[in-house]
Amino acid sequence: MKFNKKLQEIKTYEAGKPIELVVREFGIESKDIVKLASNENPLGCSPIVQKAVSKIISKMSMYPDDSMIKLKDALASHYDVGVENLIIGAGSDQVIEFLIHAKADTDSKILTNSVTFAMYDIYGAHVGAKMIKTTSQEHDLDEFYELYKSEKPSIIFICTPNNPTGDALDAKDIKNFLAKIDNDTLVVVDGAYMEYAKAKDDAKSVEPKEFIAEFENVIYLGTFSKAYGLGGMRIGYGIASAKIIQELYKLRPPFNITTLSLEAASVALEDSDFVQKSIKLNFEQMKRYEDFAKEQKVDIINSYTNFVTFCFNNNQNSTSIAKSLLRRGMIVRDLTGYGMNAIRVTVGTAEQNDSFFALVSEYL
Ligand SMILES: *Cc1c(COP(=O)(O)O)cnc(C)c1O
Repeated sequence: MKFNKKLQEIKTYEAGKPIELVVREFGIESKDIVKLASNENPLGCSPIVQKAVSKIISKMSMYPDDSMIKLKDALASHYDVGVENLIIGAGSDQVIEFLIHAKADTDSKILTNSVTFAMYDIYGAHVGAKMIKTTSQEHDLDEFYELYKSEKPSIIFICTPNNPTGDALDAKDIKNFLAKIDNDTLVVVDGAYMEYAKAKDDAKSVEPKEFIAEFENVIYLGTFSKAYGLGGMRIGYGIASAKIIQELYKLRPPFNITTLSLEAASVALEDSDFVQKSIKLNFEQMKRYEDFAKEQKVDIINSYTNFVTFCFNNNQNSTSIAKSLLRRGMIVRDLTGYGMNAIRVTVGTAEQNDSFFALVSEYL
């Protein structure tokens, strides 16, 4: 059977290995498996959210409120923007899909960092756009600007903090960059880990309200999957000028967010104590990763997120390390596919991190 030719160039996205598959392949019981591969919140989600969702569980027979007004109001007041500046997606992933489909086609170019979130490439391939990459591993805005001038991309992705490396740009540098970009080029600031970056260093904190007031060609992306611990609910959002949002709305399938997800996200925004507690645990535990890396003489990248990226030397191989950990029930992300001899490890609970340290020091 013949399929759309563009599909030939698309690699199926491989998410962090699911616990269910490790149970099957290695015969390890699921309670003995530690998954530090998908940057999920090790504390789970807020108990207040769980209670709210169970209260409305019987509503699953009805279609969701497609105006999403409760969540939009909550996000609008959280970010001090208008509801007309918001679009909600099934994960911020879906907003990425909307904006690439809205802005790019086979004649377009999309500029991204050399190493960054894999979904930009995948949705770029959907529309047959040409992906332009920097050479620098860290976001280098001077190189971005050079490529912007020579390649004239229709979309530029800035992922800050960046996944899978964890480094982050200063907000003022992004603003200076934006000031040099013409209004017809859409600049996406993907802030999936912004809650962590903001807590670690205020200079990294991108304020969507300021950005969209100053630049009509920028869209900020946020998600409930990381700091809010709602990865399984699939919910994220974009914040931009009403003009951009209106165009994205044309691509949104009706009822793209479930009733339970809408409720979970609305309530999650109110429980800032839970997010603060998660962030505090994250950076306390990250300190242990930094000490461990020093002890083991392995390089790590200074991280503004809830994960740590270990970069190995030539005598070590990230794929072998990841495989060896997997056989022992520890799931981490091997970054060989990103051209790095590195693994990305989500910062877990103290106990999960203990297991990681024990297994890795045994291996090294
Ligand atoms: C996790 C992540 C997202 C989106 O996740 P969703 O679960 O789809 O909301 C977006 N960008 C980056 C860089 C991420 O790491």
